[in-house]
Amino acid sequence: MERNLDLRYVVIGGGMSGILAAIRLREAGCRNVTLLEKAHTIGGTWRENRYPGLNCDVPAHAYTYSFAPNAEWSSYLAPGREIQDYFEDVTDRFGLREIAHFGQEVDSCTYADGVWTVTTKAGMTVEADVVITATGVLHHPRMPEIEGLGSFTGTVAHSARWDDAIALDGKRIGVVGSGSTGVQLVSALAGRAGKLGHFQRSPQWIMPMPNVPYTEEQREAFRRDPALIDAVRYDPEYQANVLRFTAGIIKPDSEEMHIIETIVRDNLEQSVADPALRERLRPNYRAACKRLIFSPDYYQVVQQHDVDIVIEGIERIEPEGIRTSDGVLHELDLIILATGFHADRFIRPAVVTGRGGASLDDMWAKHATAYNAISLPDFPNFFFLNGPTGPVGNFSLIDVAERQWGYIEQLLDKVTSGECAEICVTPDAMARYDDARTEAAKGTIFASGCSSWYLGKDGVPMTWPWSYGHFADVMAKPDFDDFEMVKAGVAA
Ligand code: NAP
Repeated sequence: MERNLDLRYVVIGGGMSGILAAIRLREAGCRNVTLLEKAHTIGGTWRENRYPGLNCDVPAHAYTYSFAPNAEWSSYLAPGREIQDYFEDVTDRFGLREIAHFGQEVDSCTYADGVWTVTTKAGMTVEADVVITATGVLHHPRMPEIEGLGSFTGTVAHSARWDDAIALDGKRIGVVGSGSTGVQLVSALAGRAGKLGHFQRSPQWIMPMPNVPYTEEQREAFRRDPALIDAVRYDPEYQANVLRFTAGIIKPDSEEMHIIETIVRDNLEQSVADPALRERLRPNYRAACKRLIFSPDYYQVVQQHDVDIVIEGIERIEPEGIRTSDGVLHELDLIILATGFHADRFIRPAVVTGRGGASLDDMWAKHATAYNAISLPDFPNFFFLNGPTGPVGNFSLIDVAERQWGYIEQLLDKVTSGECAEICVTPDAMARYDDARTEAAKGTIFASGCSSWYLGKDGVPMTWPWSYGHFADVMAKPDFDDFEMVKAGVAA
């Protein structure tokens, strides 16, 4: 069947998902693809996050495009820098730089008469038939509202705005936040800092996750035999863990969740010798309510290096350091805010206006959503990758994005084949999806009584609330009855 390869595509965001979309479109022969990236290079979260200790807690060979395996990973869990290098390398290998425009932060997308007009803050305007928004989930750093933060006379740094020039060795450092970032930071800084305090408003459950370096012999074997890479990627034990996790999060009282709870409780009990320290590190909510921390060494490190685990609340920040609710002043040279992100922003603050003046902000007034995490009514040919309500958390987001792209490709087939000019979910299907998703989300472990970035402002988890297997099935074949397809020249 003949395809229209002259459709104009704009991909917004040059992170992992945007790179994927651009590669796939170009491989399909599309001649008119523009990639807009706000920063000076690609990489998304791996470009922005450069804090000490950053690595990916998903096994490196599973956090790799299926079509671009990488024999060179230095360890089972790859350091952030290597992941950034991988994306830079893939960008070069697939010739994406010629379609990429850097320093182009999108500030509006407006639909009229079958065309999307995308503008950037730097003054670029691009017209497109199809828009792919791949702007990531965690890219608006959350600065905590702590009294006196501005009065601190030392250095304050957010983990996602890292300055490599910050002095660390021998310094008195306070890390605020005990999510995946805070834990990785503390593991890396213990032993380097002169004094290290980990300020934990909520201690976290920690899943043990050994991280072993690959030897040169192993890498050589990966180079020679890609089946060995697949053996790691599809390792039955890793896959079983993922399945157990996904089964557990949707059924908090399941056997699978009890197994997870037992593992993390045993990890705490067996790894931390001092009963008083153990209690300071014990969370008061259920495992996996917040994103599970996977760490090879956090408990060991905080004992070896005498890290101060501070669970007393932060009263305020003073010129010399952090004052906690017990009256103690923790004197510091550097405060690192590992306080996370505004996870409900997605493409915002860009202003997105669909058919008939439909406003994204209005549509998301209650919570950010999209049908199957992909499409919105009245936003024709406008698709999300790793958008709202997709699976997030302890999964490979590359696998998520690849499956989502498989779904979007099938929607695009309708357009490139000429069967229709525009496609988007119907309002009715959107409402059914949103109601069902919201109801299901209330029953997940994420809603079992803790704060986390998974929760929307209505207190309901914003995530995919069904199993990963169900996600894979849904992505494999769109239900076209849920879509409105508008033929060329026919006003909707
Ligand atoms: P996060 O999970 O949202 O954790 C933020 C931390 O800051 C929490 O401990 C929170 O405490 C604390 N906090 C926030 N405001 C505070 C305040 N005013 N006073 C004291 N404490 C405050 O953020 P994150 O650790 O940056 O991680 C975000 C996500 O990034 C992760 O869940 C993960 O998806 C991703 N990530 C992945 C990796 C990886 O290896 N794959 C590594 C790093 C990050 P409460 O819990 O009490 O709110």
